[in-house]
Amino acid sequence: MVDSSRNYVDGQWSETRTGDTVDVVNPANPTETIARYQQSGVADANEAVEAASKAAEAWANTAGPERGAVLREAGKRLDARTDELTDQLVAEEGKARPEAAGEVQRAVDIFYYFAEKASDLGGTVKGPSGRNTNLYTREEPVGVAALITPWNYPIAIPAWKLAPALAAGNTVVLKPASLAPGPALALAEALDEAGLPDGVCNVVTGPGSTVANAFVQHEAVDAVSFTGSSHVGEMVYDQATDEGKRVQTEMGGKNPTVVAASADPAEAAEIVAAGGFGTTGQSCTACSRAIVHEDVSNDFVAELVDRAESVDVGPGLEHEMGPHVSQDELDSTLEYVDVAQNEGATLASGGGVPEGEAVEDGYFVEPTVFTDVESDMRIAQEEVFGPVVAVIEVSDFEEGIEVANDVPYGLSASVVTDDHTEANRFVDEAEAGVVKVNEKTTGLELHVPFGGFKRSSSETWREQGDAGLDFYTIEKTVYDN
Ligand code: NAP
Repeated sequence: MVDSSRNYVDGQWSETRTGDTVDVVNPANPTETIARYQQSGVADANEAVEAASKAAEAWANTAGPERGAVLREAGKRLDARTDELTDQLVAEEGKARPEAAGEVQRAVDIFYYFAEKASDLGGTVKGPSGRNTNLYTREEPVGVAALITPWNYPIAIPAWKLAPALAAGNTVVLKPASLAPGPALALAEALDEAGLPDGVCNVVTGPGSTVANAFVQHEAVDAVSFTGSSHVGEMVYDQATDEGKRVQTEMGGKNPTVVAASADPAEAAEIVAAGGFGTTGQSCTACSRAIVHEDVSNDFVAELVDRAESVDVGPGLEHEMGPHVSQDELDSTLEYVDVAQNEGATLASGGGVPEGEAVEDGYFVEPTVFTDVESDMRIAQEEVFGPVVAVIEVSDFEEGIEVANDVPYGLSASVVTDDHTEANRFVDEAEAGVVKVNEKTTGLELHVPFGGFKRSSSETWREQGDAGLDFYTIEKTVYDN
């Protein structure tokens, strides 16, 4: 068991003032304690904000290429620890090893990507004013940014907030999710070893309702970037805007794949299974609704059930689909299985806890498929956050698009079709921040923007790509006579 995890505040590895710690267990085998973390309180959060505030001016005035060099060096140090961090992710969060390795690699790539961007910041020179005045714009950092992150991508999401924030010259306070805080502390370690000045990045572990809430309320915090559930995100959004802060919230999804009459049922089932059962369905972009034309519905369901039944469930080190992250998450998925059946949906596959030696102790669940689902059922409207796909049959493509849009979320949406006109129509009409043609709803490229519509996102800001820097910069226009 690791017992060395501390908060990282003002360049020091410190214990919480509360004196409390909390253990994180292996979700594939909860009798095994993986690590012990600080259960911090408001005083720790305030101390971190004060450190970030003290360090803000010097970091903002550090040349972009110098900031970039620190990010590049931190990326190298993470890269060198890929295997160890991958194993940590599998142990703390339960991801299958290839998924965990991909996530760690993404964190490394994000650091390299924003290291380059740091050198490129500046602004633009505008055309002549005609009165001997030079006009130009400067991009300046916003100040102190509070970053609040979820457990389901415990290294990639902290990285995709930290790297652009630091590249743009902000200082940060980060509160990682309590269920898997270790990987975020590893990012702080890499930055510390790379020579980041004291106080520029601070990481405090502990309950969100205490530590993250204290960040949101602190007057020295200028911007809040949150990723997590819509319920908490909307609360954070209201609080932060009431306090006059810049705020970005990336939240839940209820992502559809529309399967057109022209689609090959086997190919469509492959796409839906990858989007729905990958990462145990614990992705904000997971496919949880397959909206299928009646002409191909029977064949599609047979193919999907086939795939659901062949998923190899077990501890992530050796198996294809790992456990849920916690007992609460497992209970929540099993509750939705009951809710769906009570609403009249038909359980076509899964719906229970798998059996066997490899899975007897962990928070495992079977990949699950429901048919006879109507769009107004809870199973078709609410985020389940487990490997559960609800199949909704429709009689034409228009109805498919209507059903796809008939939810309060709008994160990712995909269509499987052989008809280019249909594909274009879907791109035009899908109410989602990410729209994909003949691809699964999950999986993101880091150099293009990511965000959602409706309850999935606060819409104003995007993460990743060039747009990922916008939230962390403010433009100043200069008239120089
Ligand atoms: P969550 O419960 O909303 O927690 C997210 C973060 O907020 C955690 O660090 C949590 O701390 C903190 N928090 C909890 N209560 C808070 C409060 N009162 N004030 C401020 N912060 C608070 O979400 P989760 O269960 O970790 O993550 C799963 C959710 O994230 C899903 O809904 C998923 O769709 C969404 N998600 C969205 C995206 C996206 O980019 N759109 C990406 C990934 C995940 P504790 O851990 O200590 O509770």
